[in-house]
Amino acid sequence: MQIIINGKTYAANPGEKILDVARRNRVEIPTLCHSEALPGLASCRLCMVEVHEGGRTQEVAACTYPVTDGMEVVTDSEMITAKRKILLALYNLIAPDSERIKGLMARYHVEPFDRLQADAENKCILCGLCVKACEELGTNAISTLFRGTKKKIGTAFEQPAAECIGCGSCASVCPTQAIEMTEADGKRTIWDKTFELLRCQDCGEYYTTPEALAHVRQKLGDTVGNIEELELCDYCKSRRAAEKLKNGLRLNELFDATVK
Ligand code: SF4
Repeated sequence: MQIIINGKTYAANPGEKILDVARRNRVEIPTLCHSEALPGLASCRLCMVEVHEGGRTQEVAACTYPVTDGMEVVTDSEMITAKRKILLALYNLIAPDSERIKGLMARYHVEPFDRLQADAENKCILCGLCVKACEELGTNAISTLFRGTKKKIGTAFEQPAAECIGCGSCASVCPTQAIEMTEADGKRTIWDKTFELLRCQDCGEYYTTPEALAHVRQKLGDTVGNIEELELCDYCKSRRAAEKLKNGLRLNELFDATVK
């Protein structure tokens, strides 16, 4: 299957979304709410593109729209670019300190709205990525609260949630750093709840909460190959994986040398 993006032809696979093909081929389409691990939210609307197929032209979200053979996509028409600029200026009003939004504004030459006041207190653009991350974990500790201008993300009744395991996934996926997570003296505080932190068995750095570790152990059950690795921080896990790979390569070299 092939699709055309901005006049160039690219190979695509059935089931892929326009954004997948674009990113694989380094065609730029901006996003805020997209994460490869949690795709398909289509809430920030920055990835809107123009699609020409079957004699019709429409604007679609590139992160959710599936490719079809021969489809033509335009990522930067005058209309698309103009709408993208307005969206970015609006997001900048909501989250004026977000480096990611500031970067996109610079990239697309967007001037901030000068007649509207930015709310320096608020940082959340309500993209919903944090809620999706928590849902995927199966913890469902946060959700959208209230409606209209009062809409926000939070825990039920804005009280510390029993379901929250302090894993920090919501904070790490947030594109505007709107979720406050602090760590001090071996403790992590998030959503008004404080957790003890565990140390990595290799480097000794604090890395997760006992509740998050127990949750992962319970989810993985017997399927995890090396249970010890759960007690390592991400850095040490990667280092061990790299060492294993290196040792494997050395063994291969030794084997080759012996056989030759
Ligand atoms: S820290 Fe709490 S709210 Fe955030 S993803 Fe983990 S369980 Fe959900």
